[in-house]
Amino acid sequence: MPKSPKTEFIPNPEQMALMPDVSGNDINGLGETEVRRSSPIYWQAPELTPFGPLMTWFYAQVPDDERMKAVQQHRAETMAMEIPPVAPVQQERPAEEWTSLIKKIGKENGADIVGITRMRPEWVIETFDVPQKTVIMVAVAMDYEELKTAPDIPAAVEVIRQYDRGHRVSRALTRWIHAQGWEATSFGGSGNVPILLIPPALACGFGELGKHGSIINRDFGSTLRLAAVVTDLPLITDEADIFHVDDFCMKCKACENACPPDAIGSAKQMVRGVTKWYVNFDKCLPFFNENMGCAICLAVCPWSRPGVPENLVRKIAKKHKK
Ligand code: SF4
Ligand code: SF4
Repeated sequence: MPKSPKTEFIPNPEQMALMPDVSGNDINGLGETEVRRSSPIYWQAPELTPFGPLMTWFYAQVPDDERMKAVQQHRAETMAMEIPPVAPVQQERPAEEWTSLIKKIGKENGADIVGITRMRPEWVIETFDVPQKTVIMVAVAMDYEELKTAPDIPAAVEVIRQYDRGHRVSRALTRWIHAQGWEATSFGGSGNVPILLIPPALACGFGELGKHGSIINRDFGSTLRLAAVVTDLPLITDEADIFHVDDFCMKCKACENACPPDAIGSAKQMVRGVTKWYVNFDKCLPFFNENMGCAICLAVCPWSRPGVPENLVRKIAKKHKK
């Protein structure tokens, strides 16, 4: 079983001295009833957010560990791989054929799931311009044996390894689309991404939002990491996959009880015009920053354990038929 080091958490004063005067929950639009674009808050260029110094502090905490260095090196190599420019002649195919090719190529390059949805204006983070109309979403699953060590080094290494895999898939897809004469841009999910990734992933059928603020997928549970490609290639979109995870989260308290800084609430909240599960940013961040990205909430989620999602999906479906 994953560890749940639920003891009183006292944040490092050095980190707390860097906290801005503004609440991250306010930046995220907690309590706001109007739909709007989100504001940069984390994993962006530090100058774009008042939490920039906290990000810099987080990166400075990376432990001197050989496994960590190896995955970071591998990710740097991935990022340095060249993506050739768009070929001068644009290939034409029916949307059905492009769609099945994109899914095939994504899987061949390491994706566990590939989904497609139409871009919505509220998914583009303020200050960025993303004109492409379609989002190709890529999901890769973390290894549960590594994830369950959270918040220790093996889980943090696994997070970087999987984001690296996501980057490789999104870059491979982008290279292939360029070779067909169509424009595309790769957004590996681990930094400087100008769009939100969870909302398009929900829209294209990757699963539902869990109480821990991450996706719960019917096959891979709470182990997914995301990447994306935006493009105007003609593609057919996927449907959202609603299998009533909410019913389960309403009764389960595993992540709520395990979260050391009590950042996970028991009720949904209004965030930028949508009522949804929301993790308290101001409470989560100090623990996250001092514990290599934490991920305890994902590790303790019953849906993360191999073999469990299939059973739970079946049980929930049976209940809904009654
Ligand atoms: S990642 Fe944040 S919300 Fe999840 S358990 Fe850790 S501190 Fe809590
Ligand atoms: S741990 Fe329980 S409440 Fe939290 S996201 Fe998973 S199923 Fe939902």
